[in-house]
Amino acid sequence: MNRNDTLSILKQLKLSPKKKLGQNFLIDENILKKIISISELTSDDIVLEIGAGLGALTFQLSTLVDKVYAYEIDKTLYQYLKTKFSSSPNIQLINEDILNANIPPHNKVVSNIPYSITGPILEKIFYKVSPPVGTLIIEKSLANRIFLKNSYKNFSRISINFNAFMIPMQKVSISPNAFYPSPKIELSMIKVLPRADIHPFLKSKETRAFFLEFISGIMPYKNKNLSNAIHSYLNTIKSDLISKNELKQYLASIDFDDIKLSQFKYDDFIVLSEKFYELLDQKMKGEF
Ligand code: SAH
Repeated sequence: MNRNDTLSILKQLKLSPKKKLGQNFLIDENILKKIISISELTSDDIVLEIGAGLGALTFQLSTLVDKVYAYEIDKTLYQYLKTKFSSSPNIQLINEDILNANIPPHNKVVSNIPYSITGPILEKIFYKVSPPVGTLIIEKSLANRIFLKNSYKNFSRISINFNAFMIPMQKVSISPNAFYPSPKIELSMIKVLPRADIHPFLKSKETRAFFLEFISGIMPYKNKNLSNAIHSYLNTIKSDLISKNELKQYLASIDFDDIKLSQFKYDDFIVLSEKFYELLDQKMKGEF
């Protein structure tokens, strides 16, 4: 679907794109081809699409794979898609908020997603035991943080969390002109694969939630030393369970140097969250 097709459908539907829902429709056929080729689709694939919009990508996907689950929150777009794809039995359209949905099993995610909810989408889709392979268009600044190797300064919560579950493979910049209306932000297409070696601590729901909360808690202090960062985090949750001295002693006992957070490798943070979880547990039981 090019710009003219998109404009004429929107006119026919009496719709103007809703900013609140991140409606930026893909109008560049070359980018569409690139998403499809980079996704390496096979006839066995079960694909999730988040935010089907006017169905530009949905249809291409459906011709190549076994099944497409296409979520679209907008009622008018959903009705339009229902009619448009009435003779494509392998497209299942679902009129739900992806963030509240109970998503059927799938092995790939291919989507130009609503950019404003990228963080929650990444968490819901990828931060789990057997995440799918993904091809996504997301905001460039987030893509850059995901693709930072191990790194000083610019790394953030999303760099650590994403790399705990996924392997970033490919990143391609995309011009805002590939969309109607063109978004104010810059975008990238990314290809990501699930890690085969997801850390055991991230395999249960409870400890995974602990890890994510711990990372959110300490990352605002990424330029502090480890003991200071953890201590500042404990202050924000009003926990006086562990004194700074105790923390220092504990970190030394588990062989973690008291250096700046930005000097650790991403995977160190997983081990650290596990050790901190154990420490809290011992504290609760009065064993430390
Ligand atoms: N994939 C299409 C549309 C991209 S725009 C294309 O590339 O052309 C993003 C789409 O996501 C919009 O159609 C918007 O209505 C939909 N959307 C926004 N928030 C959503 C949510 N929480 N759940 C499902 N769909 C959502």
